[in-house]
Amino acid sequence: ALARVALALAALAGVTRADAALPPSEWRYRSNADLASALDALHAGPCAGMSSVTSIGTSVQGEEMRVLEVSSDPGTTQAKPSFAFFGNMHGDEPVGRELILRLAELVCGAANADGLATSGVAVPGDITSPEPGDERFVETAAWLATHARLFFAPTLNPDGFAARARANARGVDLNRDWPDQYAISTRSSSQTRQQSDTDLSISLPADALETRQPETAAVLSWSRTVNVTGALSFHEGAVVANYPWDAKRNSKKAEYARCPDDAAFRRLARAYADGHPTMHASREFKGGITNGAKWYPLWGGMQDWHYIATGTMSVTIEVNDLKFPKASELGRLWREHRGGIFAAATVATRGALRGFVLDATTTEPIKNAALTVKGVEFPFAPNALGFFARPVSGQRDPVGGDDAATTPFLVTVTATAPGYVADEKTVTVDPLDGVDLVFEMVRVEVNGLGGAAADAAAADAAADRLRA
Ligand SMILES: [Zn+2]
Repeated sequence: ALARVALALAALAGVTRADAALPPSEWRYRSNADLASALDALHAGPCAGMSSVTSIGTSVQGEEMRVLEVSSDPGTTQAKPSFAFFGNMHGDEPVGRELILRLAELVCGAANADGLATSGVAVPGDITSPEPGDERFVETAAWLATHARLFFAPTLNPDGFAARARANARGVDLNRDWPDQYAISTRSSSQTRQQSDTDLSISLPADALETRQPETAAVLSWSRTVNVTGALSFHEGAVVANYPWDAKRNSKKAEYARCPDDAAFRRLARAYADGHPTMHASREFKGGITNGAKWYPLWGGMQDWHYIATGTMSVTIEVNDLKFPKASELGRLWREHRGGIFAAATVATRGALRGFVLDATTTEPIKNAALTVKGVEFPFAPNALGFFARPVSGQRDPVGGDDAATTPFLVTVTATAPGYVADEKTVTVDPLDGVDLVFEMVRVEVNGLGGAAADAAAADAAADRLRA
């Protein structure tokens, strides 16, 4: 491992030399065109052989929205956890654009040193040189590039950025534009879902892409194709890690709205806050984290949708009290946030519950399989390879309580699938290394007993909820 770090440091030192001709003010806000060029430069340079750049759609004014994937086999479904970095959903909150580029450069540089890349490395002059202290993250960055699919989406609102405006070019706040489980603030009252307080089902209105803003539709459609394990979305206006629910039922009063995976979300948010030099010591937010609705409820946000629709554990990171800080602040912001970024990405991938759901006889993936963690009771699905990854937490902590960062905990997981006998396993999860487990599912006998029939009924119900 030491030799690997030494190699990685040598690679980073190489970046410094290549950029020596650049002026010291290398941190800057790139224009949309320069941002696109920077992604191309990463793809052709330090990320060559382990990346793809994809346009996921266009903004109202025709600006392409691009995602850089870094992984061993970009563009394909893989048996790996995945993590996405979203920036600039609010146009006047641009820090994430530059943090994400910097992050991609560090990850690819580290992965090159780790021998993942197959082609030679040319460092383009447009990309900035490493900051002091980046070397502490080389090993983690290399691990992520090798063992996860990483997605870098620096701008979700290029038109808003160009106009220095929060909303998109049609004046719509894109973090209010997503299908919402309650749909009370962005829909007419006739479309409001009627729910009783005892109705615990979680479902969403139709995607209705034709009525969404093009930027939302692009990210929504892309998200459905990838089913990312975890994500960070960078905003500005505070310093805090904010987790679902953002929305709450029937009332605009600010109070805690607990989602089924509350404990796992808190662990993810805490990892970020603790990795940041001051966020965890916030005076405004205990531990530097907050439930979204407890801070202020909002409807139509991305993170609630991600959790319900694609099983993505998405956390909103407010990176700076002041919006649109001067470019001279970007180096400081990177140095402050890189620790939290790597900590959260690690918790959601390396620390996750991972494994496969397979047919015991054929060892093939099972369609419509669902997994449920005891105490969470909100199912999630394996991918087309039968692989799943899910950040989990021990469920005994009270809401708002402390979660020990390194103490192993027990989790009971049940796999169900239509036509198969349910399979329950209890495993110990090491928060630093996660756990791997394989469900080998046995088909229900045609003349099976009542228990098997009940399993099949439960599987049908879980599959229905996943499709909702
Ligand atoms: Zn924002």
